[in-house]
Amino acid sequence: MAELSARMRALVQPHLAGIEPYDPNFTPTRINLSANENTYPMPAPARAAINEALAATPLNRYPDPMSGALRNELARWHGVDRACVCVGNGGDELLYNFLLAFGGPGRTLVTCPPDFSEYAFFASLAQTEVARVWRDPATFEIDAPALLEAARTAQLVILTSPNNPTGNLVSAELVERVCAACPGLVMVDEAYGEFAPAGTSAAPLLERCPNLVVLHTLSKAFGEAGIRCGYVLAAPDVVEVFAAIRQIYSVNVLTQAAATAAVRNRASFGRVVEQICSERERLLAALRAPRFAAAGLEVWPSAGNFVLARMPRASQVRARLRDEYSILVRDFSYVPGLDGCLRITVGTPDENNAVLAALAELTGAA
Ligand code: PMP
Repeated sequence: MAELSARMRALVQPHLAGIEPYDPNFTPTRINLSANENTYPMPAPARAAINEALAATPLNRYPDPMSGALRNELARWHGVDRACVCVGNGGDELLYNFLLAFGGPGRTLVTCPPDFSEYAFFASLAQTEVARVWRDPATFEIDAPALLEAARTAQLVILTSPNNPTGNLVSAELVERVCAACPGLVMVDEAYGEFAPAGTSAAPLLERCPNLVVLHTLSKAFGEAGIRCGYVLAAPDVVEVFAAIRQIYSVNVLTQAAATAAVRNRASFGRVVEQICSERERLLAALRAPRFAAAGLEVWPSAGNFVLARMPRASQVRARLRDEYSILVRDFSYVPGLDGCLRITVGTPDENNAVLAALAELTGAA
């Protein structure tokens, strides 16, 4: 992404002068496995319910600011009071508002990189210092003692489970210890939580950790990245802050209607999530085969809908996948701690077969 012009660098707030906007590096391709979207067709009952809800939604009225109907559905689903739920224009808006409300000059956010780059970006917008507790370079596991030490003096902690792009989970036991250590708020970003084994969510800790915030999105398992809908679960006084600082109409009427219908029909997404998880294991097993190992390729286990693969000449492989095979994956090879790494979203069986065949040719494993 281009830097700001000299003229703009002089005009924007000083802390924004070096800003480099998030660049998903999108190019139209035949197969897009670059953004961890759900590439499966939406289950027919859910799609029909969404279509019906959209058709019945008047467009002339402002949205319900707090997404009442959707919030009720989410609260019922998660077994919490609706005062514990706040909806946002994607998880991104809630992450941004988290930093805006609780970060700021003189305050510190603890993160465990390599992780989702938006955390550091939003921290820089909110002039919040970032204390980085680097993951183990070989396993990408969190350095728990260092995290607990950093959390003791931080106003904010964000842990990602499953972590994007490395796929690791954070144990509930560690989350609870971090919540006890941190005088501020601890967010567990579970954007990919539905792809993780049952029982791994931090949400049950909400009952005894009043400083815990759990972030979810409908963009991944529920295949609705386009409608922009995320939500947080947290104690009512934390939700009040999210509610107070948000732009009142950020979650539009069509999003509220589609999301409410999707959540009501959530059971129909179970099959798709199962299939994605089984395709993830198939992809990982294929990439661990001796022919790929001999070509220098390494993969890590993943609890998300993506896999991270390290290989020689990764950037070049990614460019050739795009240009010669029309397959888009995400290049992380320039990111500290992720040399040589590409992230591949788990697609449909055909998409996964295509990326496996292309990778075999490009890495010399064929
Ligand atoms: N958290 C993580 C870890 C993510 O990877 C993403 C999306 N890439 C988000 C949050 C935000 O998702 P959305 O804004 O689509 O809800």
